Amino acid sequence: MTVLEQMMAPDTRSDDTIATLNLYLIESPIMMARQQGVGDVKGTVKRVLLRLVSKDGIEGWGEAAPWEVFTGTSEAAFAAIDVYLRELVIGWPLSNIRGLMAAMDRRIIGHGEAKLAIEMAMFDILGKRSGLSVAELLGGRVRDTIPLSFSIADPDFDADMERMKKMVPEGNTIFKVKTGVKPHAVDMAHLEAMRSEFGDRIDLRLDYNQALAPFGAMATLRDVAQFAPTFIEQPVPRDALAAMASFREKLDAPILADESCFDAHDLLEVIRMKAADAISVKLMKAGGLLKGQGIMAIADAHRLPGYGGTLWEGGIALAAGTQFIAATPGMSLGCEFYMPHHVLTEDVLEERIPNQAGAVVVPKAPGLGIKVTDASVHANARVLATA
Ligand SMILES: [Mg+2]
Repeated sequence: MTVLEQMMAPDTRSDDTIATLNLYLIESPIMMARQQGVGDVKGTVKRVLLRLVSKDGIEGWGEAAPWEVFTGTSEAAFAAIDVYLRELVIGWPLSNIRGLMAAMDRRIIGHGEAKLAIEMAMFDILGKRSGLSVAELLGGRVRDTIPLSFSIADPDFDADMERMKKMVPEGNTIFKVKTGVKPHAVDMAHLEAMRSEFGDRIDLRLDYNQALAPFGAMATLRDVAQFAPTFIEQPVPRDALAAMASFREKLDAPILADESCFDAHDLLEVIRMKAADAISVKLMKAGGLLKGQGIMAIADAHRLPGYGGTLWEGGIALAAGTQFIAATPGMSLGCEFYMPHHVLTEDVLEERIPNQAGAVVVPKAPGLGIKVTDASVHANARVLATA
């Protein structure tokens, strides 16, 4: 430890410290192939699960779910915690989460997902100890349900249409179409098919995952804007902020920044360039619940609403995301936390967070509001490594 870390470090005599840290690198099967522009996913996804136990015996769970084409690798997150952060975490007081986040930022650069996993497990413990949910610890619950968006990303569009025909009558009405993967004419035909089948009953959103070159993108976006999308997400590469600003000027459809907005510094640049009407906040990009709330404080001041995006997250990370959105008023555009019910064949939770009438129901139980055990992890995922 550095001198500064020692000064901020824990009073290890108290029961308030972290005593144990266990890691699992897991692989989970998924039900359907996903074609998402920046990368295709098929078969399985890898994630890191983290278990912390406080000195007084309370257990908390965390999850790091990087995506290699987006933020990094699960193997790197596993090593970051095991090799570099473990020593800091053991003995740290649970009552000083901000202090540990700062110390971890000084210890290693990046690896936001690894730091987030530790932060969410600490909040889980604090919640269980105090009887409060993580949303309550984050300032209080401002919503009990979160509208759920399902992503239309199956290479087989007919399969997605069949899904929609089942989901819409059940109350799922928000669909985000991954455009820019197939030729433009195919995208147009799919959008036409969805609008003619479901009309205004669906809230249609588009996500290009940076697929379009700024040169010529305007004509493409004018075409798709005819289908009245609620927003068009990240049409061009993350650094093409001037192009995004020009779309905002010339199109009626709002522009949402995802890859252009990882953290508070990115958001300041998006705002300076007037490049977006809304932002996607993913805890895996922000690298923390508190950091996510910091981003939304800036967004709120500029009247930019937030949307709850995800990477390939399982039930633990999505529980943290659910608690975050429940406690953050500006996160008003819903979430895409559909993995546990629609994509993962199994999840490590003993019981999944309920979806009801097209919305995620925010758990009220203490901590993250979920139950995970060593047995439920081993029963529902292939454990590739432990530490
Ligand atoms: Mg996106």
